[in-house]
Amino acid sequence: MKPQYSFIVPIYNEQENIPELYRRISAVMDRMDGPTELLLINDGSRDASLSMLRELREKDERVCYLSFARNFGHQIAVTAGLNFSRGQVIAILDADLQDPPELIPDMVEKWRQGYQVIYAQRIQRRQESWFKRFTAYAFYRILKRLADVDIPTDTGDFCLMDRQVVDALNVMPERNRYIRGLRSWIGFRQTAIRFERDPRFAGEVKYTFRKSFALAVNGLVSFSKVPLRLSTYVGLLSATAAILMALLVLYWRLFQPGSPINGFATIAIAILFLGAVQLVSIGILGEYIGRIYEEVKGRPLYTLAEVGGFTPAPGNTDNGNHLRTTPYVDSQPH
Ligand code: UDP
Ligand code: MG
Repeated sequence: MKPQYSFIVPIYNEQENIPELYRRISAVMDRMDGPTELLLINDGSRDASLSMLRELREKDERVCYLSFARNFGHQIAVTAGLNFSRGQVIAILDADLQDPPELIPDMVEKWRQGYQVIYAQRIQRRQESWFKRFTAYAFYRILKRLADVDIPTDTGDFCLMDRQVVDALNVMPERNRYIRGLRSWIGFRQTAIRFERDPRFAGEVKYTFRKSFALAVNGLVSFSKVPLRLSTYVGLLSATAAILMALLVLYWRLFQPGSPINGFATIAIAILFLGAVQLVSIGILGEYIGRIYEEVKGRPLYTLAEVGGFTPAPGNTDNGNHLRTTPYVDSQPH
């Protein structure tokens, strides 16, 4: 029987969380009214996570896993999960139990009411550092102002989606996968469910400052062209200032011959300022061009080293392009 519900969980060095994660998710799965699958994606973990996934697969048929050949990042792991999921209803959650699996039945309830995307919106972040809370708060509000699509504030990837939505996400060709943005872009009937985000159950945060920053830049650049326009604005502003200055200097020269014009500091500041503006503009351009380059190369999004619960489809040459086709089939009927 094909699963009705798919639970997708990306795993990166989560050995301390896996037993508890499995305990809580399987309790929820037992309560569902149809067949379920738990799709775990090992994103190049260096700890015992992968062997724990193999063990889970051994003892529970509902568990399937994918294992990447290296660490490709959270968003790509979730993408792979979406590519391989088979359920009619698909839930995405974190491995550290910050997204309580017990919320999923409520989300399914909303799905029954006809919603196709039910995203979880945080009303509180408990026990996260003020720095993380502040930067997240600021970022989601900046993104909301600048992005072309309406990306709801304070939502992460924790959500439940209908098969129709996941199919639409799976054929989106872009390599920069800012999932919460794509999910908003795609439309369909969406609704929020509010929840309090729990602290991490165990282990270290896997999103280092660098990774979070990269994710934030990715979100902005993928969903807004405003940064590009910024250099135009600053350029126009500097030009206006320059013209005013020129007029002022001319006036001094013509009508107030005695007035001292302090040259050095002014020139130094002007040069430094313009140099900085130009470099920042080039940097912004670079962000966009770098993304074009990524897209044009057209590499597959991830390489799989091992799968559990899927076998290569007949005649599958596995060209590695998991984005558009899923070259695997169920290895055994559910
Ligand atoms: N994760 C991943 N690859 C990475 C980083 C994180 O698959 O390179 C997973 C991690 O195992 C967890 C989820 O993404 O299930 C969220 O990570 P984390 O809890 O560290 O980040 P948070 O969003 O809570 O700051
Ligand atoms: Mg977390």
